[in-house]
Amino acid sequence: MSSATFNPHALMEITARPNNIFTKGKGSWLWDQDARPYLDFVQGWAVNCLGHAPSLIADALSQQAQTLITPSPAYFNAPSIQLADLLTQKSCFDRVFFTNSGGEANEGAIKLARKYGEISLDGAYEIITFEGGFHGRTLATMSASGKKAFETMFEPKVPGFPKARLNDLQSVEQLISDNTVAVMLEPIQGEAGVLPATTEFLTELRALTASHGLLLIVDEIQTGIGRTGSLFHYEQTGIEPDIMTLGKGIGGGVPLGALLARESVCCFEHGEQGGTYNGNPLMCAVGLAVVQEVSKPEFLAAVVENGSKLRLALDTLSSKYNLGASRGSGLLLALDIKCKMGTQIVAQAMGNGLLINSPRPDTLRFMPALTISEVEINQMIDILDGVFEELL
Ligand SMILES: *Cc1c(COP(=O)(O)O)cnc(C)c1O
Repeated sequence: MSSATFNPHALMEITARPNNIFTKGKGSWLWDQDARPYLDFVQGWAVNCLGHAPSLIADALSQQAQTLITPSPAYFNAPSIQLADLLTQKSCFDRVFFTNSGGEANEGAIKLARKYGEISLDGAYEIITFEGGFHGRTLATMSASGKKAFETMFEPKVPGFPKARLNDLQSVEQLISDNTVAVMLEPIQGEAGVLPATTEFLTELRALTASHGLLLIVDEIQTGIGRTGSLFHYEQTGIEPDIMTLGKGIGGGVPLGALLARESVCCFEHGEQGGTYNGNPLMCAVGLAVVQEVSKPEFLAAVVENGSKLRLALDTLSSKYNLGASRGSGLLLALDIKCKMGTQIVAQAMGNGLLINSPRPDTLRFMPALTISEVEINQMIDILDGVFEELL
């Protein structure tokens, strides 16, 4: 199959894409139409936690597809009940609403918080979010995001999302008013370039929100499902949020998201939340297989171990070329390259058979499969070394 066989012009133009057409994936590797292999440290944007095309997912999908695909969101189905049970057992939350994407999970979290404000906080509706934050591409989640580029898009925005600064408690305090119902943040800002909220900040934020009777919402769409070495990132910080959203890794590559909340916050009345495919057994069967696998202690221990190896290797490479520090947690890592060469490095790396991402001009982001091997980490470092050698 050559690329000439396909005409991509029927696809709506939304972003600059390389010309390659990817036709096959296995584990940490992707192949394009010319059968060229690529070592993949993007993995669908931190989505494929078990790598490309794992048999675990293929089996769950095919078994469930032959059993029951969608009875209707108005009926119970077994996989959604089992997955909700597992997620609540493994977290501080009591109930789960499944969605088809991360953005939709955040949209649900925003609605749940606003409903809570309506009935418990005299109609308070404002949700304090953060500069640099990313919560999705629906109108409300773009409004909640603190991404500079979003600021002028699709006006007028959904109101009610004042922005504080990450790791600056005072900036949050200053925004609290009678209209405030919640604070929402990513414990590590992923799209902003892997910028972690400190444990101290999260601890103080939890105390602050609790003392004002406000909800704390964590968007763990990128950090959750083992990405940072624990099943959910908040577990490493000692805080217990009121609401959490999941996406990306929970489906291991299939469209699935989740909104989790403590019982005291679950205040939707009938008719206020729903959706045709929400909680469908086909995706929930995959989510169940994925979460069962990722939550195994030995699986999470390997993420921590490989995360340290990757980080150490990045630091060594960084010293060699006089670059900046690495940051992040587990297998969500970034390297400060101290110059605005991100785009060129990503393009050159792709030419040399490596897929990485540059979330900002001076930063490279690494989000490999959680099943990455030491050999593959070393292969990645070798290719990157070559790219740095050529470009820096
Ligand atoms: C990717 C992402 C989202 C949006 O998820 P979609 O599935 O693309 O809608 C929201 N929040 C964070 C932190 C993300 O990384």
